Formats: sequence, C-alpha cells, structure tokens
Amino acid sequence: MNLPESLLHSLNGIKGFDKEAFEQAHISGEPVVSIRQNPFKSLPVLSFQDITTTPVPWCPGGFYLSKRPSFTLDPVFHAGAYYVQEASSMFLWEVLNQVADLSSSQKILDLCAAPGGKSTLLASFFPDGLVVANEVIRTRVSVLAENIAKWGVDNVIVTNNDPKDFAGVQDYFDLIVVDAPCSGSGLFRKDPDALNEWSEENVTLCQHRQQRIIADILPSLKEGGILIYSTCSYSPQENEEVLDWMMEEMGMESVQLKLNENWNITETISTKHAAKGYRFYPDKLQGEGFFIAALKKTGTSTHTYSSPKEHSLSFASKKEIEHIQSFIHLPSLYIIFKQNDFFRAVKEECLSELEMLAKHLYIRKAGIELGSIKGKDFVPGHELALSLLPLQSIATIELDREAALQYLRKKEVQAQGPKGWSLVTHCGLPMGWIKVLPNRVNNYYPSEWRILKD
Ligand code: SAM
Repeated sequence: MNLPESLLHSLNGIKGFDKEAFEQAHISGEPVVSIRQNPFKSLPVLSFQDITTTPVPWCPGGFYLSKRPSFTLDPVFHAGAYYVQEASSMFLWEVLNQVADLSSSQKILDLCAAPGGKSTLLASFFPDGLVVANEVIRTRVSVLAENIAKWGVDNVIVTNNDPKDFAGVQDYFDLIVVDAPCSGSGLFRKDPDALNEWSEENVTLCQHRQQRIIADILPSLKEGGILIYSTCSYSPQENEEVLDWMMEEMGMESVQLKLNENWNITETISTKHAAKGYRFYPDKLQGEGFFIAALKKTGTSTHTYSSPKEHSLSFASKKEIEHIQSFIHLPSLYIIFKQNDFFRAVKEECLSELEMLAKHLYIRKAGIELGSIKGKDFVPGHELALSLLPLQSIATIELDREAALQYLRKKEVQAQGPKGWSLVTHCGLPMGWIKVLPNRVNNYYPSEWRILKD
C-alpha cells in the first residue's frame, strides 16, 4: 500500500507519528475485527465457536475477534445482540465515562449518525437519557433506523435533517457527538479504495465542511454542555486545526482526558490554543486510525423551552389501547400514539421532548412500533419483536441456526406451534414474527431487511 506522500508529510512532527512503523502497519497489518455487545440482550457464546475473543480495554462489552466470521450468516447479529464496530471508535465509551453528567437525565444528539455505531453506544451508555440520532443523507437513514430497531431501545429518536435545521432547537442538548464526515485516511487498511479518493484538496474541503457542521450545531448545545468531535482521518487540518478553530471562533474550552498508559493512545496538543486531542495509530494499538476530542461550551445563552401546550400527536383511543393490550401488556409508563396506521409506544417522560423536536425536525422513528389493527387482528410490528418490551406472554418458537437463517431469508419456515402469532427466537433472542395458519406458516420478516446470501 503506497500512502500519499503529502499525507505522510503533513504528519511529520505530529506527536506519536512514527513514519516507518506507520507505513509498516499499512503494509503488513491485518485490519482488526471487533464487536460491541448489546448490554440489554444476552450474547450466546455459541455464536463465536472457533473464534477467540479478547476484550477491548477501553470499552466494556467490546471484543476483538481472532478472525472475521460471516456476520450476515449469524442470526444472533440480526437479533441485535452485538454491533460490529471498529475498536478505536469504541473509545467514545471512555470519553463519556469521563465527561458525561449522569446526575440527571441527559439529552444527547448524535449529529452524523448513520449507520449507527456511535448511536447504539450512546443508547447503551445513557439508558435513562434521550438520544437523537440524526443523519442528513436520506438513503443512509434507513440503515440507521434498522440498527436502532435491532438494538431494541426505546430512548432513541431517529431524525433526517441537515445540521442547519437544528436552528430551532437552541440550548437544548447536554451533549452532542459530531462524528464528522472526513477524508477517511484512518480507514485505509480496511478500505484500500479510500486511497484513490484521498487528496489534499479533499482534506481542505472536509475541513471546511466540518467547520460548517459545527458552526451550525453549536447553538443547540446548552451552555456548559459537551461537544465530542471525532474523525477517522489522520490529517491535522481535520483534527487539531478544527479544535483550534473551535476555541478561537466558537468559545469552546478543551477538556483533557485521563489515559491509561497501556492503551497507547496519543494525546496531542494543538499549536494555537493547546487543545487536547486523542489519536489512535494502528502501529501503536489494536484499532484503525481515529481522532477524538471533548470540548465544553462556554458562553451565556438564555433560551428556555416550554413544552407544547397542545399535543400534536394523535393518540390511541381507549378501545385501540385495549386491543393492543390484549396482545402485549405494556407497562404504564408508556404512551401509545398513532403514526399513519401504526401504533408506537414512547415513554411518557419523552413525549413533550418528541413533540417539541417534531416541530422543527423530520422524525423518521420514535419509540417502538407496536403494530397495527386490521379488523379483529392485531398485526405486531417488527420493532416490537426486537424491542426490550416485555413479550413473555406471547407464544414463542425457538429456531435452530439453519431455520433462523431461512427465516431471515424470508423463506418458508417449518414451525410447530399454536395457531396465530408467534415470536420466533434463536438462542432465546427474538428475531421477528410468524403467523401459524392451519396449512402453512407465514413469515413476517421485513422484506427490505431479508438476507440474500445463501
Ligand atoms: N457516527 C457513525 C457511526 O459511528 O456509525 C459514522 C458517521 S460517518 C463518519 C459521517 C456521517 O456524516 C455519514 O453518515 C454522512 O452521511 C454524514 N454527513 C455527510 N455530510 C454531512 C453534512 N454536511 N452534515 C452532517 N452530516 C453529514
């Protein structure tokens, strides 16, 4: 792999950069495979037969795998028991450990969220918080919503907006993560094609875009709130220089993190304002190239929010609630609202936040889709199957691996069970719905999610 000379040149003198070792890691280094467990779903050890796992030191539930399995052919993956995430990125957990305020329920924005690696981590870290996972590119929102649905949590609202659209939501979030679009040099080992797209001009373009994104979103951060900025680029222009710009132009203060020396993460200090940034070099640790920093918003903003006086959501009627409750016993802390023909459950405490956000943003998904009422039948939604809501009262059919894969391919499933709706599980993990009819079994796995691989 021939790394761009101008990239290597730009890294000269940057702390932690060792040209020879860095080049060697790109020539001979195998990209690292790692997963992060869903703390709300149990991961059967079974699914990793023949693969040894070692913990990622900075993230509980993060594991390196000794080789790459076919995730597509692992039903446990589709059940949302883990997320395939690059190990360096998981350092976000440790950053949150050090900077997040857990004394009250937090409102968090993941601004550049697709496909959802950081959002699922944030949802795991803040089970009592509200996470807004936003993605500007429409075609990428579906995969984000899918990954959030698989994670099963009810505290993530998925939005599809440009950072500018957040102008109406000022001084609102306690913490914002900007995992910025970047020139991608940190992923050269995983994606050698990225090399062909790399250029100095693109680095500059990315830097300008990063600054625009940050300038657009900072008004949404509360005074004293934390911005976590990250890229998968090595270029100082997209990293330390952006931090300097934030401190100079945006009234941000750098937050220093404590590092465990054994992790071999490099702390850098920006030239103009001594902002602390954290670099991940693949020749120093088990992970790809990554940069992350935390900054605190200073300055006095006084905007306050009043909850909408009238509900803008359409709620389920008493009769509809009874019908739904006959299928699933929803705890009383949930409110059921209706979106098109579908009923969704959201925690009561999130309701006013959702209504406020819906005034300004395009909400792609909020809460859990419970299902729809069709005549006398309640048709359960797929999100319900994958959710953490109590499903114990529903008939369950356990599938072995082969049958589970058939189910995920949306093919015919042989299943013995009571007539009507059943939840299919694999290793005890819910996968979705089937309906057992007198002479056949209907597979309700969503067509757009089905796996095509044999
Ligand atoms: N945070 C994600 C994760 O952990 O899975 C990865 C995010 S990726 C590095 C950057 C994201 O920014 C992409 O999904 C991309 O579509 C989005 N993006 C691109 N241009 C953007 C812009 N102008 N404003 C905000 N987001 C943008």
